[in-house]
Amino acid sequence: ETLDKGLEKSKSTFFDKLSKAVAGKSKVDDDVLDNLEEVLVSSDVGVNTTLKIIKRIEARVATDKYVGTDELNQILREEIAGLLSETNVGNETKFEIPEKNTPHVIMVVGVNGVGKTTTIGKLAFQFKKAGKKVVLGAADTFRAAAIDQLQIWADRTEVPIVKQSMGSDPASVAFDTLESAVKQNADVVIIDTAGRLHNKVNLMNELTKVKRVMQKVIPDAPHEVLLVLDGSTGQNAFEQAKQFTAATEVTSLAVTKLDGTAKGGVVIGISDQFQIPVKYIGVGEGMEDLQVFNKFEFVDSFFK
Ligand code: GDP
Repeated sequence: ETLDKGLEKSKSTFFDKLSKAVAGKSKVDDDVLDNLEEVLVSSDVGVNTTLKIIKRIEARVATDKYVGTDELNQILREEIAGLLSETNVGNETKFEIPEKNTPHVIMVVGVNGVGKTTTIGKLAFQFKKAGKKVVLGAADTFRAAAIDQLQIWADRTEVPIVKQSMGSDPASVAFDTLESAVKQNADVVIIDTAGRLHNKVNLMNELTKVKRVMQKVIPDAPHEVLLVLDGSTGQNAFEQAKQFTAATEVTSLAVTKLDGTAKGGVVIGISDQFQIPVKYIGVGEGMEDLQVFNKFEFVDSFFK
């Protein structure tokens, strides 16, 4: 229900466009497919993924020449859910962390402004609510505001935070955070990192160093590298995914601001293109406005 609410804008526009694409047609012909292609591309599904979806639909229409537009919704829904399944996306429904890592270390990456800090705060809230002991690490030492913002979320969620002054070594903050977390017997550690996309080599060096220093405390940390992307930025989000996956091994994605965009299709495109599961979606600015991404709910919210 909240998902529907959060995605209202994506939903209505995507669905409206979709309806227009097939309006007045009694069967799926080239015209319908052309319109559909346009709708998918303009909803930020991305060209490659759009062509993949169109091809799949074409193949299904070819086997049954009289597929009407009523059935098109069903086919689209199946094909999109199928595409997401291939990237192993969206099978979880709860905020859960593997029990085997104590603590479970999540390194969060992404450029400034995408909603990185907010996502960390929302995750801290959810994990805490699930009874986990959470520690935050303010390793984005490049901007004073980043440290202050994370502190605000730490206060709001009543979760301990480890920080140093602005300009200090991010790797050193990460090290301190892990040490403190181990001492406190924490279940989850969430480390914020600097969001500068200066150049690929610098980014890679920075993230590699943070990882290496963390491993002095916990040899297999980080257990998860979560890339945060702003879902309302369309092709920029694709570009950022490209750069970050080239710089480090990204294991999961959080796509934010899906409440404020008509372009929710970006979730479909990015998970398909990068074969990385979208784990969380942001649907508002509040503490509770983060959801575990569920592909069936997501697709259904478009076609209801
Ligand atoms: P950071 O620079 O990446 O750490 O970004 P912040 O976490 O500070 O977020 C930037 C802005 O985006 C803030 O005003 C947040 O409230 C807002 N924001 C973050 N996530 C969402 C979301 O899912 N939906 C909406 N509407 N706003 C969001």
